[in-house]
Amino acid sequence: MKKAFLLKYGEIAIKGKNRHVFEDALVRQIRYRLKPCGEFKVRKEQGRLFINPLSDYDQDEVIEKLKQVFGIVGICPVIVLDDMDMETIKESAYQYVKEAYEDKPFTFKVEAKRADKRYPLNSMEIAREVGAYLLEKCPYLKVDVHRPDVKVWVEIRSKGYIYSKIIKGLGGMPVGTNGKAMLMLSGGIDSPVAGWMVAKRGVGIDAIYYHSHPYTSDRAKQKVIDLAKLVSRYTGRIKLHVVPFTEIQLAIYEQCPHEELTIIMRRVMMRIAERVAIQNQCQALITGESIGQVASQTIQSLVATNSVCTIPVFRPLVAFDKQDIIHLSEQIGTYETSILPYEDCCTIFVAKHPVTKPSLKVIEQSEKRLENLEMKIEDAISQIEVISVRGDEIESTNVN
Ligand code: ATP
Ligand code: MG
Repeated sequence: MKKAFLLKYGEIAIKGKNRHVFEDALVRQIRYRLKPCGEFKVRKEQGRLFINPLSDYDQDEVIEKLKQVFGIVGICPVIVLDDMDMETIKESAYQYVKEAYEDKPFTFKVEAKRADKRYPLNSMEIAREVGAYLLEKCPYLKVDVHRPDVKVWVEIRSKGYIYSKIIKGLGGMPVGTNGKAMLMLSGGIDSPVAGWMVAKRGVGIDAIYYHSHPYTSDRAKQKVIDLAKLVSRYTGRIKLHVVPFTEIQLAIYEQCPHEELTIIMRRVMMRIAERVAIQNQCQALITGESIGQVASQTIQSLVATNSVCTIPVFRPLVAFDKQDIIHLSEQIGTYETSILPYEDCCTIFVAKHPVTKPSLKVIEQSEKRLENLEMKIEDAISQIEVISVRGDEIESTNVN
């Protein structure tokens, strides 16, 4: 039996005139993601995508990869029939059921779909004939039209397809169909999840990480690279911008009130992120902030950090409880790396009693004490190291 995959995509199917843009992006993503698994032909046909293997492949491995592609709603391993006369369809359906379910008894229903209206039988007739044949060949099966254990699908298109298993995909939209955003990626639990969520809406991701060497170790930086790798399994290549941040952090520490350290530091991070975003054609920023999670994420603190930015700042986790974020990070596979003990921020830069309700005016005044802030920001940006992360491939370049 010739095997293939039929893919269902939800949201993108209803995109009207732009539909082909979304479909083409999805095809590109799938081709790229399946490269390590073998050779495949990926093509679209009337609201479905088909993947035909041209070489040996491992079915489970292919399914695992497809489960990481945004835009796919359902993954169906199918058998393909070049010949579509009723006898072939019936016999193939029987062979399929025998192989997929062995001799186990179950209740079933046949669902047929005739996309090619020239086919002599209509959907009802196809379903009825196939159902009757299955009952005749497998007397241990029973029909249940309301709540069957198994639905056997028969689709008649340019070829015939039989399947019964629909493996849930991630949904969302293919990456690259909705612009690009700059993810502020720390080594924590939240920011990788935030980036993943926005990417799921079709947004391409660049990332930025502030590194305070030697206060933050090389292992902390490596952890961020590893997290970027994990996220890039879903998003494709991520350009990670590593910003040397020590000088700025020391200046803030020496020149500003300690209870305002974190807020001022976050404001400088946001300013740098915005500039690097614009230089790299990113239309928005993404952070892992969530209301009230820590002192620097109260509403007042968010107001204070947000006010330095003019481009939109996406905070997809803003209303999530920590437990729910943890759950999601486990699902996407970043949790184990996120909890490794290399802190992204040295304790000397964290005040014992940070302000929880900063006043924007007061913060702005304190910030004025920073000497040559603009120059320091420009310096930091000019020394950014760009690391290109894609799956396991990594390249590092100093852009400036
Ligand atoms: P996370 O788990 O993502 O580290 P957090 O709960 O530790 O978040 P904060 O340290 O207050 O929260 O940071 C809030 C957000 O600011 C992070 O989610 C991230 O988007 C950004 N951020 C913090 N530190 C850095 C850093 N060193 N480099 C880049 N972005 C950072
Ligand atoms: Mg953090």
